[in-house]
Amino acid sequence: MVNSARKNTMHPANSSRRQFTLITGAALAAARVQAAEITARQVIERIQKNVGVPWRTETVDTFKAGNPDSPVKGIVTSFSATLDVMQRGVASGKNLFIVHEPTFYNHQDSTKDLAGDPVYTAKQSYIDKNGLVVWRFHDHWHARRPDGIFAGMTEALGWEKYIDAGNQRLFVMPATTLENLAKDIQKRLKIRAMRVMGDPQLKVSKVGMIPGFGDARGVMQAIERPDLDVLIIGESREWEGVEYMRDALTLGQKKGLLILGHVPSEESGMKECARWLKTFVPEVPIEFIPSGEPFWTPTA
Ligand SMILES: [Zn+2]
Repeated sequence: MVNSARKNTMHPANSSRRQFTLITGAALAAARVQAAEITARQVIERIQKNVGVPWRTETVDTFKAGNPDSPVKGIVTSFSATLDVMQRGVASGKNLFIVHEPTFYNHQDSTKDLAGDPVYTAKQSYIDKNGLVVWRFHDHWHARRPDGIFAGMTEALGWEKYIDAGNQRLFVMPATTLENLAKDIQKRLKIRAMRVMGDPQLKVSKVGMIPGFGDARGVMQAIERPDLDVLIIGESREWEGVEYMRDALTLGQKKGLLILGHVPSEESGMKECARWLKTFVPEVPIEFIPSGEPFWTPTA
């Protein structure tokens, strides 16, 4: 476009043709902007419009790295923007990362204590060098109804048919043993380092799920519910909720606790996020990249 315009200015006699070229060029550029150019900020504005819950003033759902006004080439959704996930995204031509968890190792993504840290420095310079943008989607994806993470996990487990009509977070399924339930979940979610508390032979059919972090209070309240045999969580502090569960078992309570690990307990929720984004961001390719379970165990 620039070249042809310059060429035409060298032949001022041909002014109508020059005008035509300029108009056509401008129209083409405008069409291209409409068809393909979307900035990271515009993608997030669309998310805010579509998520279906009021946007909170206090939230961790903010830009964590990069320039929000960068044009987006492609979007990756993932549990978190690990260096590995970003490398895989860059390899497939993507530059906007929409992730559930922090990028810089604490809930607020505060980097003030990370100055000079070799891992942080390498990660930040990788982001800068490749022109990447990272945005966190945590609070509002959970606040959505149904909870986006919960919906993705329910689908990954194939448990839609078991959702209790009165309580969206409770599944009622054909009775099985705690051991078989644990094995089935482990296989479906491909978990290596899952942990279980309770009698393996306990008959269970009513299953509650708290994806991600289950604080001690949440674990206590769930374990005490008469309508619940098993609670599934991502993680809990081992010296709080886990110790409570241990005492409950010593007291003879017929309950089970499945600790999947934080990533396997939530990751499929970001796969659901990619599917959802595609319904209102048609301009660019969108891909879910699993960050994968961080652990292995000697017996696995
Ligand atoms: Zn979460």
